[in-house]
Amino acid sequence: MSKFWSPFVKDLVPYVPGEQPKLTNLVKLNTNENPYGPSPRAIAAMQTELNDNLRLYPDPNGERLKRAVADYYGVQPAQVFVGNGSDEVLAHAFYGLFQHGKPLLFPDVSYSFYPVYCGLYGIAYEAVALDEQFQINVADYARPNGGIIFPNPNAPTGRLLALDAIERLLQANTDSVVLVDEAYIDFGGTTAISLVDRYPNLLVTQTLSKSRSLAGLRVGLAVGHPDLIEALERIKNSFNSYPLDRVAIAGAAAAFEDRDYFERSRQQVIVSRESVSSALQELGFEVLPSAANFIFARHSQRDAAELAAGLREHGVIVRHFKQPRIDQFLRITIGAPEQNQALLDALRGIVSSPE
Ligand code: PMP
Repeated sequence: MSKFWSPFVKDLVPYVPGEQPKLTNLVKLNTNENPYGPSPRAIAAMQTELNDNLRLYPDPNGERLKRAVADYYGVQPAQVFVGNGSDEVLAHAFYGLFQHGKPLLFPDVSYSFYPVYCGLYGIAYEAVALDEQFQINVADYARPNGGIIFPNPNAPTGRLLALDAIERLLQANTDSVVLVDEAYIDFGGTTAISLVDRYPNLLVTQTLSKSRSLAGLRVGLAVGHPDLIEALERIKNSFNSYPLDRVAIAGAAAAFEDRDYFERSRQQVIVSRESVSSALQELGFEVLPSAANFIFARHSQRDAAELAAGLREHGVIVRHFKQPRIDQFLRITIGAPEQNQALLDALRGIVSSPE
């Protein structure tokens, strides 16, 4: 702390991202990256920008990317917002759409960035407990609120809320914004984007970090009514005059255009998820049904913190949250087949050795 800090900075509690280890020989299954890498068409598009165009400013409206997203989802470019990772898109949504004096509602457990944004922008919130099966119960959200946000599939549980339940939530909640954070939707859910034309208070966010394997590029997006998008644009343009750099606009647009590559890579992840889930069950884990590119699981006998530490000794890193209710779970990203095998081999050794 320093005397030069404003009182506001003194009280901020920032988000701590998952570890990005310096060692490269680790099997890294801790931050839900996609092992298959981005589309070759995305890489070629980025290379063209690097070779020919970096002396030029980017398009201030990111039109090429908005058009690619709009074409993919059958919406208008005016219904699309793009930003530096969905974290930035979410930050602008919190600032511009959730400041209404009434509490924002989100599930307990969900993405741990939500309370951080509330702290940053002074937004009151109520964390609404998930049910016994770690599911969102829509009826619990029928109370006065300044907005509702939840990840779908939820993180870190991986559990999916069906589209008809989301629609029930929207029908019961017409006076505040409902934000569905679809960071992991491509691994097993149906996007709520099909509902945005009917519900002007629905905002759907997505990321290119997971299913499109571009976490390092930092591109996220939101789709919703043009009035909601305009609010995000106003805020973003007050911080920064360009939505994304040229490389990101070109790479992300090409990633949306390359549908075949996208389908193949997400299917590979889904197939591996199912086989890793079964193998974990055979090793004595309870595995929550996952619609994401990770698995949330607890062992019937072994302590989760000890399992995570034991895995690390075997060179495998997974995520353990020291948080009430979920501190006996591990969140394990689905990797490439050889990474999944390394995880299972290490776990087999750990759970079969004496405690
Ligand atoms: N939402 C959820 C639920 C997430 O788990 C993540 C990834 N940490 C994000 C949003 C942000 O992803 P990104 O900023 O990489 O788009």
